[in-house]
Amino acid sequence: MIVILGSNITEASEEYQLTLDALSQLPGITTRIHQIQGAQQVLTELYLIGDTRKLSAEDIQALPGVERVIRVSEEYRILGRHQDGQRTSGFHYNGVAFSQDTLHVFAGLCAVDTPEHVELMLKALREHGQVCTRMGAYKPRTNPYSFQGHGKDCLPYVFDLAGRYGIKVIAMEVTHEDQVDEIHECLEQTGRPTGVMLQIGTRNTQNFELLKAVGRQREYPVLFKRGFGITLNESLNAAEYLASEGNSQVIFCLRGVKTNMGDPHRNLVDFSHVPVVKRLTRMPVCVDPSHSVGSRERAPDGILDLMHATAQGVVAGANMVLVDFNTAPAKALVDGPQALLMSELGWFLEDVALARECYEKRQALSQRRLHSD
Ligand code: PEP
Ligand code: MN
Repeated sequence: MIVILGSNITEASEEYQLTLDALSQLPGITTRIHQIQGAQQVLTELYLIGDTRKLSAEDIQALPGVERVIRVSEEYRILGRHQDGQRTSGFHYNGVAFSQDTLHVFAGLCAVDTPEHVELMLKALREHGQVCTRMGAYKPRTNPYSFQGHGKDCLPYVFDLAGRYGIKVIAMEVTHEDQVDEIHECLEQTGRPTGVMLQIGTRNTQNFELLKAVGRQREYPVLFKRGFGITLNESLNAAEYLASEGNSQVIFCLRGVKTNMGDPHRNLVDFSHVPVVKRLTRMPVCVDPSHSVGSRERAPDGILDLMHATAQGVVAGANMVLVDFNTAPAKALVDGPQALLMSELGWFLEDVALARECYEKRQALSQRRLHSD
């Protein structure tokens, strides 16, 4: 059961304390406090955990400061939708709004290699009016002898350069909770020139201890990749670990699933799940065409498979695109063959904008149909 407090109720309010005291008296029920940072104010939701079936929603609704009470199903308690269209979806981070209605492209380097390449990438993004990017510092690699990323050594110049080129949010994978502290310390030391969205990679989708640690901090939002070898339901439950620890600023990323049925693509593209995740949860949904498709092959129409897949995700309502670019793919230390070229950035963004326009028209068409029925 979720108890939503009025938007004017803060921890200091008398109503807040009275309601929390009343809830703490309920036998066998524990209360978890969850705060959601909106553009203007903080919204407080109280999660009642335990056997809530016997509780009267009316009695709880009558407690001071309570705006609404929602009964939730067992799954995805916090991130789920639960047939309640009124609960807020999305969040603001470092001046950028993320929700199931917005669209942002995070084009950037799979792995940071040199400051020169980082700068070339960020400069190109600014020229194209982009405020988000991806930069890999900590790389999970299949082979222990492969390049593992420059780690914390590259953070100072990545953050400084991002600030210089007006980048507001960098998606950056973390493979261990200590890296969250390294990122945080470096942002502090460099004077917070930019922001970071912590990425959980597909190899860590069910690394529950990492999820709990990343979920305990609320400063940085999380880009959560679906697991490449588990069901969608298992991945959504894993995302809920972040929220259950306190951080519900989560974007769910589809990145293909591992099976040779996807050949010749690197993974089987799963972007038809965009509307499914939007229906089951309130998370904005990201698509990663680079790791799904994994190559620069193109169809006879001249369009790269990777761009076709991106368009499929965006036409289906995706809210974010995570995509690898490289300044010198032949020399890239990680995932060179799937990276787009700098000269293709303008084309890619224009293609995404066309697909988005198509999605918006499809959405308007469905609204007209619903209203005429
Ligand atoms: C990545 O985005 O750099 C990455 C490693 O992706 P995934 O975890 O989806 O393989
Ligand atoms: Mn990669």
